[in-house]
Amino acid sequence: MLEVRHARKAYPGGVRALDDVSLAIYEGELLAIVGPSGSGKSTLLNIMGTLDLPSSGTVEIGGQDAARLTDRRLSALRGRRLGFVFQQFHLTDGLTAAENVATGLLYAGVSRRRRRALALSALDRVGLAARTSHLPHQLSGGERQRVAIARALVNEPALVLADEPTGALDTANGQAVLDLLIALNGDGTTIAVITHDRDIAARLPRQVEMRDGRIVLDTANTANTANTANTGRHR
Ligand code: ADP
Repeated sequence: MLEVRHARKAYPGGVRALDDVSLAIYEGELLAIVGPSGSGKSTLLNIMGTLDLPSSGTVEIGGQDAARLTDRRLSALRGRRLGFVFQQFHLTDGLTAAENVATGLLYAGVSRRRRRALALSALDRVGLAARTSHLPHQLSGGERQRVAIARALVNEPALVLADEPTGALDTANGQAVLDLLIALNGDGTTIAVITHDRDIAARLPRQVEMRDGRIVLDTANTANTANTANTGRHR
């Protein structure tokens, strides 16, 4: 459903943030993109999320080459097919949990009444049915992140991209958020988690390890070396 091929990204000053990165994500996967600070994870996430284009190489989402779309069609594709979760939640202060979740549907052409119904159902999925009218400051960090996850899920994206989703949480809340992502994947949601934390990565079925702008390990390849079709696609 998402394929990055031979992506390179150079920043002014000669930093090679990505150096020939190829990665395919298949429907139903839950993977970790793991690596130390500066290894290129955020750069890769921005490229996968079509928030930035690679200097060379391609990104395809559902078979569509991101570089060939106009800005308008690209934002429509992003709004329809991708959900984002960030370390710092990025909720809007004056809006209730349900209203925050409903903002995930603003570009989807859904009526106000329907937006509310879908928001309530997404909050139910993340275990917050009893918190729909709370404002962000009335919620714990873990609950805020669950609201942000509901917002990412509300338009049933093909892929959820989560950037250090437990990074701002204490251990217990971080575990709960990770458990939630695992459960959502169990229900069929495809999720990529960016993390610097090896313990978090180890809990997920597939690990893609980055170092100095390169993928140095992809367990999808090592686990399937007998399957030439599969390894061929990942290389
Ligand atoms: P990570 O997310 O793994 O910490 P990044 O993708 O943020 O890694 O960064 C990879 C490399 O690219 C680092 O050396 C970083 O300093 C550099 N970099 C990232 N963004 C920029 C930018 N906007 N301008 C210049 N260099 C950047």
